[in-house]
Amino acid sequence: MFFSQISIEITNICNFSCNFCPIGKMQRKRAYMSFETVKRIVDEISELHLLSSDGHINPYIVGEPLMHPQADQIFKYIKSKSLKILLNTNASLLTSDTIKFLYDIHIDKITINLSKNKDEFYMRKPKLSYEEHLGNVTDAVKQHIKRNPSTELEFLILLHKRDIIKNSVEIQSIMQILDQIGIESVLFMKDVFAGFRYNFFRRIQLPFVIRKELVPGVNLAIGVSHSWAGNIGTDYGKVKKAIIGSCNALRKDGQIAILADGTYALCCLDYEGRTRLPFKYEDCNFSKLLNSKEFKRIASEFRRCHLPYEFCKCCRGGDTNAKWLVNQLFSCIYYNIPHYKVFRHLANIITR
Ligand code: SF4
Ligand code: SF4
Repeated sequence: MFFSQISIEITNICNFSCNFCPIGKMQRKRAYMSFETVKRIVDEISELHLLSSDGHINPYIVGEPLMHPQADQIFKYIKSKSLKILLNTNASLLTSDTIKFLYDIHIDKITINLSKNKDEFYMRKPKLSYEEHLGNVTDAVKQHIKRNPSTELEFLILLHKRDIIKNSVEIQSIMQILDQIGIESVLFMKDVFAGFRYNFFRRIQLPFVIRKELVPGVNLAIGVSHSWAGNIGTDYGKVKKAIIGSCNALRKDGQIAILADGTYALCCLDYEGRTRLPFKYEDCNFSKLLNSKEFKRIASEFRRCHLPYEFCKCCRGGDTNAKWLVNQLFSCIYYNIPHYKVFRHLANIITR
């Protein structure tokens, strides 16, 4: 069994309250996972070779990973086992020293979830000013240009699909960063949106993400805000549940997650633990889990296009008939094609 992503939620506490994030409505107890538990999980991932060659650990489901008091030790420990880490952060705690540390330990990728402008930034109820935040982010880029580390840096901006197709947004935050590093921002942004306007594949591919390099190793990614299985931006009760559907959770080249309290869940979308398995890591390590009937049952249900949880039925359903239909059919085909990762790679090349 090789996963391509194992999410370890080292904390579900956050110092932002973004309007597109379900953390505000989350009922789960806020917690930090102990460093000892993280170490045990990481040791087992390493010993059992649970990650595929390009697989990674994602220290996040919801929450700001850098808020964990021992985040630096955790990342260092994961890297000492030669495992890849993809860090998703709001950059509020990404000081000059922190970014230097992360580049020094060769963290593999840092994705900064950026607001498009000042107004949107303050809607996230942050604990720092827009100028301080942009200062952290610009410093991360400047240090990257100066040091050329192995770490990939990415800015992720989530927009409404309508805005992307109409090219009707000005992403001021990115334009300010571009100005700081001497790139002509207006032309750059026109070029980004032209990719969406003229590339038919990209348009039908939405809500996938489009990427453009700012400087080597630093990318801008624009994606469409998603609904967390119909929980954000749509009325949960009105999402038409899928009848069939599939997923890569608990499957080869797929994903698994461990919530901050140590419970296993199927995926990184499951902010409330609605797909939790009846096991906690402390009582059931990976060796036991992979051999459990429950694990095999769920993987087999996905293979047969059965969705094991109500949450999965919402995830593969939709709030319009078209979304409902396409989502189900696409997932059944996509996740059951042998070597679907090769297929995904080819799709990325076509749409580049
Ligand atoms: S920073 Fe991340 S975890 Fe925190 S509220 Fe925003 S999206 Fe959610
Ligand atoms: S189908 Fe279920 S396991 Fe898969 S991504 Fe959706 S909620 Fe997660």
